[in-house]
Amino acid sequence: MQKPYKNICFRCGKERIIIKVWKEKIGNSVVENTETACPDKECQKATEKDIKKQKDKRLQLEKRKRDSLRDRKRAVNKKNSKEVNRKHG
Ligand SMILES: [Zn+2]
Repeated sequence: MQKPYKNICFRCGKERIIIKVWKEKIGNSVVENTETACPDKECQKATEKDIKKQKDKRLQLEKRKRDSLRDRKRAVNKKNSKEVNRKHG
């Protein structure tokens, strides 16, 4: 039992058209993926731009997170090496 899949464009309110439906096997279950697009070409372009922007933002955030984690690790290493020096000194 599946509800009819309706996807309304959040930009213009038109019903988005289904471009592609494919099944993907994840573990033991099969997931159905649907790719939709706005029938309005200009609107779809703008939507894709937005999605890309959001993705870039997320990637940047992840990178920043990684960088700060690395810096923290480096700071810990510095501290440890100081202690080693003290023992030797
Ligand atoms: Zn639209």
